[in-house]
Amino acid sequence: HIPVLCIDGPTASGKGTLADRVADQLGYWVLDSGALYRATALAARCAGVALDDEPRVAALAARLPLHFEAGRCFLDEEDVTDALRAEEVGLGASAVAALPAVRQALHQLQLSFRRVPGLVADGRDMGVAIFPQAQLKVFLTASAAQRAERRYKQLISKGFSANIAGLLQDLEARDARDKSRSASPLAPAQDARLLDNSDLSIDASVEQVLAWWDE
Ligand code: C5P
Repeated sequence: HIPVLCIDGPTASGKGTLADRVADQLGYWVLDSGALYRATALAARCAGVALDDEPRVAALAARLPLHFEAGRCFLDEEDVTDALRAEEVGLGASAVAALPAVRQALHQLQLSFRRVPGLVADGRDMGVAIFPQAQLKVFLTASAAQRAERRYKQLISKGFSANIAGLLQDLEARDARDKSRSASPLAPAQDARLLDNSDLSIDASVEQVLAWWDE
């Protein structure tokens, strides 16, 4: 049985960093499921497919030419690691993620990331929908202001321009959409451990998750 540790939570709560650090400590693989939705939105944009054209977007998602290599993400031969982080791609991801056929199309692909010796899965519905049998489910939150500031720093460090007020607005709109959609709404699994990292350092968050894992 290959162990799985899920880290779910809203936009910019620090899931990605926490997942990478925990996986590093455990020597496990990482699934950044948001990247799959982002790649789907990017692929749709490149193919000129409207983001609300459910059958066509789902068809793209079902045969996403995506692969990960040495921490980089490729769509066909193109390195899209940085392009995937753009704010409009995140908003597009949130739009396609509301389509049930797209979630269905990406389900199997997400399961395929579960490989020995283990997996840390980062997303919104890892614990509820994709890996309901996971050994540990963490639901990570942080205040909206903290998350907007983190997203701001992340974008600036990647060379994008950004402003905090706009980001806060985008983030709240995205949270509202993720929570209210009928397909897999964002919510903690019943057996999830809640972790609010607004006032925690990354090291302290990693330590807490590893302590739960060792229980
Ligand atoms: O985590 P990230 O910001 O990269 O995710 C982008 C969007 O993809 C989210 O706003 C959310 O709507 C969607 N998503 C999802 N389910 C996941 C991961 C991401 O619906 N497991």
